[in-house]
Amino acid sequence: MADSIFTKIIKGEVPAHKIYEDEDTLAFMDIEPLTDGHVLVIPKKQVEELWDLDKELYAKVMDTTQKVALRIRQVLKPPKVGMNLEGFGVAHVHVHVFPLYKGMEATMEDYSAKTERQADDKSLTEMAKKLAF
Ligand code: AMP
Repeated sequence: MADSIFTKIIKGEVPAHKIYEDEDTLAFMDIEPLTDGHVLVIPKKQVEELWDLDKELYAKVMDTTQKVALRIRQVLKPPKVGMNLEGFGVAHVHVHVFPLYKGMEATMEDYSAKTERQADDKSLTEMAKKLAF
């Protein structure tokens, strides 16, 4: 199996704005944020679907997801923190965790309307610095 872009991040071959790391999971800023503060949580093991993880690794990914959501809530103080799962773009489990500032901004309709999707490096660096724990 070829390394996914996320495995390359884990190996240090591709840069990322990391905010949390432990033995089994990693959390870093999404380069095309749905909202400011959008984080991806991944297992370090390259598996395509969340549902195929063994129970132990699944629990670890969800535990890191909760930690990240609580961190977003503590630091950015949005009214809500959202989570979603798609996986059509990258075949390596990733949970999207993002602040919701006004509601519905994470819908595909809203996202599709964005003309500039990729966040600039400076804003991702600053956000990662705020959220890192
Ligand atoms: P999905 O459609 O759920 O597979 O989403 C894949 C996500 O990965 C998208 O939100 C991308 O913006 C994000 N992504 C792809 N490559 C990178 C990268 N090198 N660093 C951070 N996020 C990435």
